Amino acid sequence: MTEENIAAIATAPGKGGVAIVRVSGKDALALAEKAFLPSGKTPVKDFSPYRMYPGEIDAGSFKDYGLCVYFKAPNSYTGEDVVEFHCHGGESIARGILKRTFELGARSATRGEFTKRAFLNGKLSLSSAEGVADMINGESEAEVKAGYLLYGEKLTKKAREFQDELKYLLAGIEVSVDYPEEDVEEQHVDELRLALEKTVGQLDELTKRYAVGKKIKSGVTVAICGKPNTGKSSLLNRMLGYEKAIVSDVAGTTRDAVEGTIEIGGVKFNLYDTAGVRESGDRIESVGIERAESIIKACDVAVFVADYARGVDDEDARVLAIVKEKPLIKVFNKVDLTSDDTDTDADVHTSAVTGEGIEKLKALLYDKGMGERSEDAAFLIEERHFDALRRAKMRLIDARNACEKGDPLDFIGIEVQSAWEILGEITGETASEAVIEEIFMKFCVGK
Ligand code: GDP
Repeated sequence: MTEENIAAIATAPGKGGVAIVRVSGKDALALAEKAFLPSGKTPVKDFSPYRMYPGEIDAGSFKDYGLCVYFKAPNSYTGEDVVEFHCHGGESIARGILKRTFELGARSATRGEFTKRAFLNGKLSLSSAEGVADMINGESEAEVKAGYLLYGEKLTKKAREFQDELKYLLAGIEVSVDYPEEDVEEQHVDELRLALEKTVGQLDELTKRYAVGKKIKSGVTVAICGKPNTGKSSLLNRMLGYEKAIVSDVAGTTRDAVEGTIEIGGVKFNLYDTAGVRESGDRIESVGIERAESIIKACDVAVFVADYARGVDDEDARVLAIVKEKPLIKVFNKVDLTSDDTDTDADVHTSAVTGEGIEKLKALLYDKGMGERSEDAAFLIEERHFDALRRAKMRLIDARNACEKGDPLDFIGIEVQSAWEILGEITGETASEAVIEEIFMKFCVGK
């Protein structure tokens, strides 16, 4: 536990119903005694933990009427004594109370310092702290859900299970190194190889989940493509629910990729309305076309749009040839313009004007973009965690190969030990100070 008392405004800047000033450290309660005058009979020093007490918050130059709550160490967020003042939600009020806490001996908390103290005091693991940041910074429901799983130590628990298994293998290796007996050792190496094979398989299963996790964190990238005038911009606007892309009946109006974000099934989808991918003598339009091609290359799903009434001609076919390698949704748009019930090979018939087929298109986007896997169990969303699991797996593959080659057991032990340490980067046990710093810098002041 550190000696310094830290304070910060825990609520977001701006006006609101309530603002919270939080103090953490061994003198938090003593500080509250000087800054809070309870309305009831209980003096601050006798406050029961986790109970809200009404009273006067004394900022020195002014007073506010609010609430004070005390969290007793170690059962607080930081693991230290914590006091919160809940005042009226004006920026000057909260700032004035914060200033008072500084006068009474606290210092300003740095970004994420409350959570960092929680980590250093063993209240949560490093991946759990990252889950808190994911929840706060999350731009979609899926990211919040994934952050909550991380916060609930789902990944740390997994990492620790792997570490326990590796520790068990290391203990066996140590015994064999200390008491070598030819035939026993041979049998042990074989068992070790099988155990490593199993752990590599489990790590492989886990790392595969990152394909979904990455999309949860960054969003699913969708390229809307098709020849000009088929209604790509109109479809994008319809899905966004507001006008974003320029709509015009002059072919080639969408000069640049226009982007918008929507949430489908709680997951963020980044939609790009690409310029018609076609030959063009116009330089500005050509730049747009180049960008469109690079978006198509990078996208997770391509939506190919053709005109329902006109069907697919050679120019459409050329666009299709460009996007055919991608997970593809074929859309025939402008279905409102004809009463013919043409049978097409489209996945969905839409009208950007009436909205017909738009919900089906969104459902198809979710299925194609997220795959069949449900994102419910997805908590591998951070590249840092994925990278640690991948590196640990590589070390174990090397160890398994060393078993096959008949390398000395102590050499195999070094690889296994190294995998154990890499897994500790997830929990925080072996993470460097620089990594820890970087993680807590992602937080705001007051968290
Ligand atoms: P883009 O070049 O593919 O982006 O096409 P736009 O979205 O700019 O649309 C071209 C023209 O088709 C505009 O006049 C739109 O109003 C019209 N349009 C787009 N979608 C539909 C649709 O579903 N039905 C009808 N009737 N017109 C549409």
